Amino acid sequence: MTFQNTLEFAQQLDATDALAQYRNEFHYPQVNAKDVIYFTGNSLGLQPKRAQRFVDEVMKDWRDLAVEGHFYADKPWWDYHERLAAGLGKLVGAKPKEISVMNTLTVNLHLLMVSFYKPTAKRFKILCEEKAFPSDQYMLQSQVRFHGFDPKDAIVEAKKREGEHAWRTEDILQKINEVGDELALVLMGGVNYYNGQVLDMKAITKAGKSVGAFVGWDLAHAVGNVELSLHDWGADFAAWCSYKYMNSGPGNASGIFVHEKHLGKSDIPRFEGWWGTKKETRFLMKPEFDPTETADAWQLSNPPILSLAPYLASLELFDEVGMEALIKKQKQIVAYLEFILQDIDAQVDSTFEIITPQDRGCQLSVLLHGEGRSLFDYLMKQGVITDWREPNVIRLAPAPFYCSYEDMYHFGQILKKGILQK
Ligand SMILES: *Cc1c(COP(=O)(O)O)cnc(C)c1O
Repeated sequence: MTFQNTLEFAQQLDATDALAQYRNEFHYPQVNAKDVIYFTGNSLGLQPKRAQRFVDEVMKDWRDLAVEGHFYADKPWWDYHERLAAGLGKLVGAKPKEISVMNTLTVNLHLLMVSFYKPTAKRFKILCEEKAFPSDQYMLQSQVRFHGFDPKDAIVEAKKREGEHAWRTEDILQKINEVGDELALVLMGGVNYYNGQVLDMKAITKAGKSVGAFVGWDLAHAVGNVELSLHDWGADFAAWCSYKYMNSGPGNASGIFVHEKHLGKSDIPRFEGWWGTKKETRFLMKPEFDPTETADAWQLSNPPILSLAPYLASLELFDEVGMEALIKKQKQIVAYLEFILQDIDAQVDSTFEIITPQDRGCQLSVLLHGEGRSLFDYLMKQGVITDWREPNVIRLAPAPFYCSYEDMYHFGQILKKGILQK
């Protein structure tokens, strides 16, 4: 399609957008008495209007039923989390039994590393991407030290080439083969938070497995954003937060995936709690741990139902729409945004550079060579919500659920004005 940077053209795209009606399913913050243009669904998704109803339902059940709500609420609490498994399984390409919902992301990565990072004197190294999300770096370093190793020896980073902004798959695969039988674990972000790159998770998983390592994925920026086939790829485990593209609410519960081949085992190293035992016998309060046959075996505590309620509401929206339709719109709206950026760049003789490669999901990261933080501040004041990453990158994620083509057009006009008025 040949795009045009005009209001009429953008409105035409909106008129034929199959997801346009879903804009009404979300609440928008207001700036200058207008709905904002929201580009930070990769950081915190907007609130689905129906989330309120799901939360109210739990509050009402608690008020009217108190402890009886565990078993007699419309959606009983004792297995409430199981309602999320099928929908999440679809999003990450997993069987429902390979999914659980619990804790938060960094906590879950730690818990999963208890099971899947079992270093020996010979095989103790972890491969991650350079400049991984800070929480992941701290998590890996502390795990390595906990096992008595030095992060300097044990953590190997896949690097980008000098002067390049994206990783090359062949370089990552080569690194895996190079570390070879010293490699205990590959743990990377499936979609990089900084440059928006989608790694070749299939090829990397295969390579990691072929040298005998465990392979896990941090899917914080991937779930609800790109197509995933964790089961078929043969990944050992994965975890994600739900408040980014999944719109579940700030700090909300994390999902985990554990491959079927690791389920139903009693001899796997794991930190355990009562919500991981078989539910048929859980309330017999027996001293032996009898793990569920599902990924719930990693669940320690009875989950926070008030948090799961908005997560379930949001998942219902994903179920209704399906990833295929979301990705279809995402590809087009991201391409339109890219076109607008390039068109404005040419008009104002500015120099921004899109550092996100073609292997991408919803996010474009834009390096502002000539512009500073003042441009970002200007955008925010005009109701364009983006985020700023040092030294000079703004990240733009037009989430297909609630961003319109007209938003992209208006953003371009505001950007142009912001640069010209300097
Ligand atoms: C957002 C994000 C996190 C956040 O971790 P929490 O434990 O939910 O605070 C971790 N890792 C990556 C890659 C992220 O993008």
